[in-house]
Amino acid sequence: MSSKDWIEKDFYAVLGVDKAASADDIKKAYRKVARESHPDHNPGDPKAEERFKAASEAYNVLSDTGRRREYDEMRSLFGSGAFRRSARGGGQPGGMPFDVSDMFGGAGGGDRRFGGAGFQDLFSSIFTGGQAGGQAAQRGPARGRDVETEVALDFGDAVRGVTLPLTLRAPGVCETCHGNGAKPGTQPRTCTVCHGAGVTTRDQGAFSFSEPCRNCQGVGTVVEEKCPECHGSGGVTKTRTMNVRFPAGVADGQRIRLAGRGEPGERGGPAGDLFVHVKVRPDELFGRTGDDLTLTVPVTFAEAVLGTDLRVPTLDGAVTLRVPPGTPSGRVLRARGKGVVRRDGQAGDLLVTLDVVVPARLSDEARAALEAFAEQSPPAAREHLDARVRRVS
Ligand SMILES: [Zn+2]
Ligand SMILES: [Zn+2]
Repeated sequence: MSSKDWIEKDFYAVLGVDKAASADDIKKAYRKVARESHPDHNPGDPKAEERFKAASEAYNVLSDTGRRREYDEMRSLFGSGAFRRSARGGGQPGGMPFDVSDMFGGAGGGDRRFGGAGFQDLFSSIFTGGQAGGQAAQRGPARGRDVETEVALDFGDAVRGVTLPLTLRAPGVCETCHGNGAKPGTQPRTCTVCHGAGVTTRDQGAFSFSEPCRNCQGVGTVVEEKCPECHGSGGVTKTRTMNVRFPAGVADGQRIRLAGRGEPGERGGPAGDLFVHVKVRPDELFGRTGDDLTLTVPVTFAEAVLGTDLRVPTLDGAVTLRVPPGTPSGRVLRARGKGVVRRDGQAGDLLVTLDVVVPARLSDEARAALEAFAEQSPPAAREHLDARVRRVS
């Protein structure tokens, strides 16, 4: 049996017992229904046969403590708010869009209506077929939900580390109405269309379809006088600001986990975690490869040939680099310890790439000097290419 069946079927109603019925009551009720509807006593009566099957199915779940608990949790989830969200396709408390990231803690709110297990756990249970003993059956105070957010850091801040105030917006339960959406002093009344089930069933040929009740949007109750604070949604957007320390050397694309900085737990449960996705804005001068910073420095042909001392910037000052005579274009020089300082105190290097620049225009004097140089200059080492050219032409 799939979990979808669990959401759609009211096993208590099938057996004609109360939700709070004891195991004994359930057993008695099942025997009664089974006896009355048994195919042996009702030959050729398809309705009785259907009742008999439904009762077996219901008893199968309700007689197993673990499965009954899961069933109850799933029913309460879908009868009390989850459908309100999905049925409206965006009617999230606080006006925030409901999406997949919400389910996995993207904008977690301490929503008591989801009961003891996290929303995520319940959903994973639904999608995996709701095995007994799964996470949805966890007991004890609920852990707060994990929260994910994204932060853009300046290049230098990411290299050196920085503490930034982070503001998180998350849907939470409206404190004025405690989440039921009704004006204080009034109560939501049970929906008269679905009688509180939140789903309605429609028969079509051999199949019957369940869909969220249109009258109550799947909530099971209807609010007549709306809460002035949340306008009947039961949810509000809550804002939290906290200071977050980003360690030196944090890299673009990295995800930082801040244990216990997510949504607070319920009834004393532990808080969830905060996951921060880091984006690092590029620097106009420096690049970065792991713990090394990179920099490209243009040099003249004469500097590369004759050698020179180069003064180059680092992230925190400047250093002098020796360019030895006869340095080829593209050579990488290393300024040790001028890169990213790691957690162990060691630092990467600044890697300086020399780029020999060819001047586009020359003064007459420079041209004359260069022509004089060319006459004296040794030829470029391309005999091997010339040999090939002679062979093929
Ligand atoms: Zn309210
Ligand atoms: Zn309804």
